Amino acid sequence: MIGRVIAPGATIGILGAGQLGRMLAIAAAQLGYRTHVYAPAPGPACDVASEFTRGDWVEGDLARTFARAVDVVTYEFENVDPYFVSWLMPAVDVHPSLQSLRTARSRPHEKQLVRDLGGRTADYRVVASLKVLVEARAGIGGAAILKTNSLGYDGKGQVRLDASSDLEESWRILGSKDAILERVVDFECEFSVILARGGDGATAIYDSPRNEHVGGILARSSLPAPAIVARQFDEAVALARAVAERLDHVGVLTLEFFATEGGPVFNEMAPRVHNSGHWTIEGAATSQFENHIRAICGVGLGATTRRAGQVTMDNLIGDQVDLWREVLAQGDTHLHLYGKHDARPGRKMGHLTRLRD
Ligand code: AMP
Repeated sequence: MIGRVIAPGATIGILGAGQLGRMLAIAAAQLGYRTHVYAPAPGPACDVASEFTRGDWVEGDLARTFARAVDVVTYEFENVDPYFVSWLMPAVDVHPSLQSLRTARSRPHEKQLVRDLGGRTADYRVVASLKVLVEARAGIGGAAILKTNSLGYDGKGQVRLDASSDLEESWRILGSKDAILERVVDFECEFSVILARGGDGATAIYDSPRNEHVGGILARSSLPAPAIVARQFDEAVALARAVAERLDHVGVLTLEFFATEGGPVFNEMAPRVHNSGHWTIEGAATSQFENHIRAICGVGLGATTRRAGQVTMDNLIGDQVDLWREVLAQGDTHLHLYGKHDARPGRKMGHLTRLRD
């Protein structure tokens, strides 16, 4: 599908008010677009967007007025209700596609799609009850992870299992929600493929960063990634392209991988800009945020060329945000703070990026 061109001056609707929406709104403003955030509660995006509507993911006057006020809609996270998106669609174009949103909200769906396209995933079983979990555990022994099917992020909605784990207790901790049981993958490192796709099918691919997680939360993305990632890059990119095409995805799409001896193993996907792509703001010719805006507005993608030999992005999590003064004192470090007031443990408060040649 080749979408219509939304020219600068138009208004982009953003569902969700988090830091990804904030950085999308900043990129949109730079290109001369206005932004209108719609979310159930205010957040970091509201400080920089042109307008904010506080509304739930339900049809009604608030949502109708929002749809009329914007020229195109995108979303900054997967917690948006797909039913709400499908309700908006007759009134205004929404990118990425509903298919992308639905697939990325479901671990079994995204894994099945990747397998259908010839990609590797960890060995997994879909688990809908304690009884099924007990059966699945017989098939997947050793170290495993029980993950909720949807709405898990930053390691939330996950329980690690070892030989001594009590399955009943684990099932209860997870909230007895639909889940998958997944074998723990023995990997050398983690990396992501960040791709932007326009409505004309053109794609732009960024260099893949190595991603290091602490406690399930991304701590650092760095480039260049180790040699194993360079060796597995083409295969991972081919899979990401195939996923994007199958979903008729328009916008940025991110796939996370484990680099293993046997090749890249897909972990999960995000139908959106991603934390592991924050380095592109200063580290690439066109940032992931700008390319997302360009894609959904149909104005052509920008170059993804890396701007320095080494690029490192570190998240500022919880009270690490207190380092802002020291970071600012380092003249060559780019500081991004999301304007969040409460530095709770595990909360992403900002990030910093360093470029070195
Ligand atoms: P996820 O929410 O699935 O991205 O998981 C968060 C992090 O937990 C991943 O980035 C990995 O560091 C780790 N992890 C998740 N699943 C697995 C797995 N099957 N094997 C090994 N590590 C995993």
